[in-house]
Amino acid sequence: MAELNAFITEETIEGADDGPLAGTTVAVKDNISTEGVRTTCGSEMLADYVPPYDATVVERLTDAGAEIVGKANMDEFGMGTTTETSAFGATRNPVDPDRVPGGSSGGSAAAVAAGEADLALGSDTGGSVRCPAAFCGVVGIKPTYGLVSRYGLIAYANSLEQIGPIAPTVREAAALLDVIAGPDPNDGTTREEGADSDYAAAADGDVEGLTIGIPTELFEGADEGVVETVEAAVADLEDQGAETVEVSLPSVEHAVAAYYVIAMSEASSNLARFDGVRYGHSGDAEGNWNDTFAATREEGFGAEVKRRILLGTYALSAGYHDKYYEKAQDARAWVRQDFEDAFEAVDVIASPTMPVPPFELGEGLDDPLKLYLADANTTPANLANLPAISVPAGESDGLPVGLQLVGPKFDEETVIRAASAVEN
Ligand code: GLN
Repeated sequence: MAELNAFITEETIEGADDGPLAGTTVAVKDNISTEGVRTTCGSEMLADYVPPYDATVVERLTDAGAEIVGKANMDEFGMGTTTETSAFGATRNPVDPDRVPGGSSGGSAAAVAAGEADLALGSDTGGSVRCPAAFCGVVGIKPTYGLVSRYGLIAYANSLEQIGPIAPTVREAAALLDVIAGPDPNDGTTREEGADSDYAAAADGDVEGLTIGIPTELFEGADEGVVETVEAAVADLEDQGAETVEVSLPSVEHAVAAYYVIAMSEASSNLARFDGVRYGHSGDAEGNWNDTFAATREEGFGAEVKRRILLGTYALSAGYHDKYYEKAQDARAWVRQDFEDAFEAVDVIASPTMPVPPFELGEGLDDPLKLYLADANTTPANLANLPAISVPAGESDGLPVGLQLVGPKFDEETVIRAASAVEN
């Protein structure tokens, strides 16, 4: 189904003959490095870039027997919520082709939802695995920061992002997490915790005796149909033996603002490396190095990426650093504390993944703020570095609705266990 435009590059990387993923096809988001296969980040800047090495997750996939079938479409450098900022054209939602698949890992989720790949990898800086999973009616996991190696992931905002699995079911997503999780000497932020977990086995668990926190703040601004669908799924978990209690996360009203200041600041620094010298697009300019640098970036980056580099540079500049960047870090610490307090009383926290149903194609193009605000429920888990999953909760007006579960650090097993009960 080429008209979905789920892939930027359709090229096969064979895996080992046997292993837990033998016979499985996987789509890999195009910001994850594949040796010998071009990796564009959805950008004109890297349209011809062919990495000389594999990301750790790609090595782990092929060692486990998976066959990589292509590089999935994405918002440019992961900056978006719809996959419309890709320099290679938008991806469509297989459930309704007039709607977006979500983003930024929209190609990954669309490929899985349409059966163009059995499984996929995305990356989640502020919701980019969970949002497209919710919009396409599949499962997506954002692991605890430090569970999965980012070696070979082309960085957008390092302190926030993790690579995560997308799959049709919780069990399959968990089995993919089993393969990619665990410490990596090439990524100093990875940790030993969780290394001997069995995520696929956790998908067999039940919710008997589990306490689920319901944060009023994450239901308040959401669309009515979305809230009803999620509440029905939560009621079903109660029928299965879970207990629900209201919790409050007062800091989350600042999550989107803090997230965008931090993400844009880190992006402005990370993307400084695209200078047209060692790799990527090279601007055609007469004159000094500054002119060539400017031409490279003027031609190579799209509008959303430029907007974020400008805003991020501003937030970090002398005189504004305290006002924006440090304030955002304070808000981040507050969000982290709110979750810690909540987890004194509950095992997991449930909410809608996205406060809205999938946007129509083009709907958010001229209104970046509207798209930023749609990240209200996903960004808190990135700010607090916590594990989170989006699992289909049902439909509203024929469109998929995702339920998000967030857990304590490195407690993916409980999150997976609760999510598998939502599927039942
Ligand atoms: N929509 C968010 C953003 O544009 C999330 C992106 C992501 O997780 N990569 O920053």
